[in-house]
Amino acid sequence: MSAPKSLSPMKTNIFIVDDNASMIQLVARMLKGVARLRFATGGAEALELMRQERPDLVLLDAEMPGMSGYEVCEAIRADALLSTVPVVFLTGDGDTAAEVRGLEAGAVDFITKPVHEALLLARVRTQLRVKTLSDELRLMACTDGLTGVANRRHFDEMLNLEWVRNAREGTSLALLMVDVDHFKRYNDCHGHPAGDVCLKAVARALASVARRPADLVGRVGGEEFAVLLPGTDLKGARRVAQEAIEAVHALAVPHADSPTAPQVTASIGVAACSDAEFVDRAASSLVRVADEALYAAKSAGRNRWCTVEKG
Ligand code: GH3
Ligand code: MG
Ligand code: MG
Ligand code: MG
Repeated sequence: MSAPKSLSPMKTNIFIVDDNASMIQLVARMLKGVARLRFATGGAEALELMRQERPDLVLLDAEMPGMSGYEVCEAIRADALLSTVPVVFLTGDGDTAAEVRGLEAGAVDFITKPVHEALLLARVRTQLRVKTLSDELRLMACTDGLTGVANRRHFDEMLNLEWVRNAREGTSLALLMVDVDHFKRYNDCHGHPAGDVCLKAVARALASVARRPADLVGRVGGEEFAVLLPGTDLKGARRVAQEAIEAVHALAVPHADSPTAPQVTASIGVAACSDAEFVDRAASSLVRVADEALYAAKSAGRNRWCTVEKG
């Protein structure tokens, strides 16, 4: 599951798909100002457009030459990127068989032709409200409540997805395991609420160095974070780790009881897996190597990143 985008009204996309261009024009006129509207007169073309610009709602003609509405709906449900997009079918009045088929294909509602404006608007608004709520729920289920980065469950899910994807594409996958140094002492000295504020700042610092769209920061333990870097080799990962060390340092959060530095620092274990190494291994092997490297960074004096030879 990918994290949903948040749904603000002016960024809402409705796709209208109908082989009859004048039907598209009619529906578009009725929906003017409700959302940004996108159009397609064929199923294959619609799917291609949707993959570029994920819709928040699809109004789909059931009967189209070539790829039928039902087939388009099934393809939406089967597509990892589109599977949660609600589809409302446009069907002929009183066509019960079409409605049953539509429901079986995964539709959430129907609008019958000829289209009545008030009914169309009410149904579309209802579906957009439901979409907003379910997006919010999905986002909450993926997010760490304190820091706003990915929670452990979502991070693990993405790690496994990226493991498979990078193996298939022959690219390198890198992982940073990040642990705040002497954080128990920080809490004891500055108080737990200050500790929470510090964790939020560390999460922000990490997010600022994980800049590529596929990069992901997660909170995987109390004061432990992980950074997933798809398409990145060990050399690139070391560079990001160095930037992360510097970004946490730049926060300049005073730590009055750290034996190693006058301010909050972090230690990082760096690991990367390339090409042939994916074979016969699981994502957990990357975590294990990064954990070992983190342990080495702690032992070597903290406030640094380390790598280890892979066994
Ligand atoms: P090290 O340098 O070896 O990593 O030492 P450490 O003190 O950071 O490691 P340790 O695992 O002993 O302690 C982690 C501390 O993190 C203990 C716990 O109170 C604190 N912690 C965990 N989760 C939270 C949290 O959500 N908020 C706050 N404020 N503190 C937390
Ligand atoms: Mg038609
Ligand atoms: Mg720890
Ligand atoms: Mg720690």
